[in-house]
Amino acid sequence: MRKIDLTDFQVATSETARDINRRIVLNLIRSHQPISRADLARHSGLQRSTVSVITEQLINERWVTEGAIGHVVRGRRPRFLHLNKERAGIIGINIRPTHTVLALADLDAHFVAQQALPTSRDPEQFVTELGSRIRNMTRMRSEVSYEGIGVSLPGRVDLGSQRLVFAPNLGWKQFDLKTPLEQITGLPVELENAANACALAEVWFGRHTEGVSNLIAVTVSEGIGTGLILNQQLVRGSTGLAGEFGHTTVVDDGIECRCGNRGCWEVYASNTAAVRYYYSQSASNGRNDKSSAKVMGPELAFDDIVRLAKQNDPKAVESINKMAHYLGVGIALLITGLAPDVIVVIGEVTRVWDQVGAVINRVIQERSRTHAVTRIVPTDPSIQPRLQGTIALVLQKHFGAPSVA
Ligand SMILES: [Zn+2]
Repeated sequence: MRKIDLTDFQVATSETARDINRRIVLNLIRSHQPISRADLARHSGLQRSTVSVITEQLINERWVTEGAIGHVVRGRRPRFLHLNKERAGIIGINIRPTHTVLALADLDAHFVAQQALPTSRDPEQFVTELGSRIRNMTRMRSEVSYEGIGVSLPGRVDLGSQRLVFAPNLGWKQFDLKTPLEQITGLPVELENAANACALAEVWFGRHTEGVSNLIAVTVSEGIGTGLILNQQLVRGSTGLAGEFGHTTVVDDGIECRCGNRGCWEVYASNTAAVRYYYSQSASNGRNDKSSAKVMGPELAFDDIVRLAKQNDPKAVESINKMAHYLGVGIALLITGLAPDVIVVIGEVTRVWDQVGAVINRVIQERSRTHAVTRIVPTDPSIQPRLQGTIALVLQKHFGAPSVA
């Protein structure tokens, strides 16, 4: 139960109940489509007449369409309802430190167009470039009505100012991405941290999340992000900065992180860490890699190390094992502290999950003794969770639970 916040509440109007029922029906159609009105009434517990009124409204607003006629033994043959996935276009943008993907999705979060561009070091130039690409994309499909733009960022956005305030791996200073992008495109823009976007994607589109109320997404890339959904609610904290487990200290007096702290979890368990482990082995035969985070300009990328590990290259296997060990260290902390139902690991590292998952589970068994029952699953990279999360961000406006009281 949630306490009613007397500084920030919304009283229920006669529209509130209607809005809630409408969202329930819309979600039932989304998850059970094609579905008849009779089945909608059965699943929702609403009166047939109420279901009829709501579905008529949804059909008039083009959220839902009527499809094939069903077969029944006797009585009137029902017409099946399904989501009108072509009704709206949603623009998803996944910004990573090196490159950005821009995509157009339909209501089913199915991507109908995608393009990539390098991420500029200059955010102002970058937002202009993004804006003009979005305009070209929407002009080419002018028949679609656009709902909005969702953006996934390797950083945190201040909830009050909507400015990007913490993005050590992107190298941008505090920056307002929302206002110029809205001005250029004329569409509403929703910004979200990449790990939060992934957590939303798992909840809305994932395979492991039916009936799950507590889920943590751990994104492993240039850094490490965590997105927390606890009691079905995304945890942002009052400033939007909650979830930065990647920048908690796991090694005292360890390697300096881009955030300014030393020994952060992401310095030891990210893709960047595995590359460093690989090169520190080859450079000095096991020399302590504590001296510097940037020992030398690595020629191999993390993808190459994953490929080599799959070919049983001993140095690559050792580097991945060390990274997996530290992933386990942080994940054990999350399990002990928050006991989520599921932890979903997202990133290129899931390509060697047989190796990585075994190491992570061993570390968790050693370190987390609370008997929390948490499943640890690799994400399916084909669903592009960072990008799908941006679609969920925009869809939440229509499909999410309304906040009242
Ligand atoms: Zn840090």
